[in-house]
Amino acid sequence: MQHINGNTKLLGIIGNPVSHSLSPLMHNTAFKELDINYSYAPLLVDHGSLAEAIKGLWSLGFYGVNITIPFKEEVFDHVIDLSHEARLIGAINTLVRTENGFRGENTDGQGFIMALKEEKGWEPVNKRIAILGAGGSARAVAISLALAGAEEIIIINRSLAKAKDIADTIYEVSGILSTSYSWETQFLDEVISNCHMVVNTTSLGMSPNIEQIPPIKEEWLTQEQLIVDLIYNPAETKFLQMAKQKGCEVYNGLGMLIYQGALAFNLWTGKEMPIKKIRETLNDYFQI
Ligand code: NAP
Repeated sequence: MQHINGNTKLLGIIGNPVSHSLSPLMHNTAFKELDINYSYAPLLVDHGSLAEAIKGLWSLGFYGVNITIPFKEEVFDHVIDLSHEARLIGAINTLVRTENGFRGENTDGQGFIMALKEEKGWEPVNKRIAILGAGGSARAVAISLALAGAEEIIIINRSLAKAKDIADTIYEVSGILSTSYSWETQFLDEVISNCHMVVNTTSLGMSPNIEQIPPIKEEWLTQEQLIVDLIYNPAETKFLQMAKQKGCEVYNGLGMLIYQGALAFNLWTGKEMPIKKIRETLNDYFQI
């Protein structure tokens, strides 16, 4: 096992708050497993101090960092280059050191798709997908699904304007059909029943509010659908419990967390994250 020394390559995650993040556990476990000399730390940054923090990371020779709430958009002002995906999504979750500065990447949407491919054998091509919610994660997932060849993406959100904004971006960047609805829309039952996959990207049901559930009725779901929740704590939200009861296949957000991390890991180290080990570690952590 490598110890921190003069050759250790530094990585981390900046956010506020950041102490709850599972990324340090995930990446440090992977470094240990592969016996490579990297170290990953949670880095709490004060609101209003992002510019100084990024300058400091650069001066200290950091190889890269993950970016979490609330800095995913603000960090655009501090990169010298951007990946296509980050530009279209309008958010950065990973910085990678290059010769003259950090490059911004977004691995969230790709991580979501890769998790479904690897763990469920699911492909987005020609699929109709309903996304519940229109926040940051909805945007990343919806735009990546559109770029990956989905047939139609439907965004349903409490604030219709935010759903419409994502649907408009999808049409602009991919030309695929995308419609937006609020929860009050009539015929939402038909809209939902007609989709191959329904993804909850709202925070409804996330611990400690585990009794909450998006306003979807069990009768609207069909057994042929794949029902996904981006929430991983609890491992089975009330929404997933309802879908399971209906007989649908279900999938929680732990896969997305792992695969967005695996993509960042590869950008920094050039190596594949040992997924099996990381899954076991996180399953142990959540006692799944
Ligand atoms: P966000 O940007 O704050 O968006 C939250 C979304 O939830 C918005 O669409 C919001 O609707 C909706 N919402 C919140 N409370 C609601 C309520 N009472 N009724 C109806 N809608 C409500 O958050 P985010 O970053 O997208 O994260 C959303 C969830 O995804 C969280 O649970 C987070 O843990 C999870 N997530 C998981 C991963 C992963 O790797 N698995 C990655 C990112 C996020 P309005 O727009 O109307 O406010």
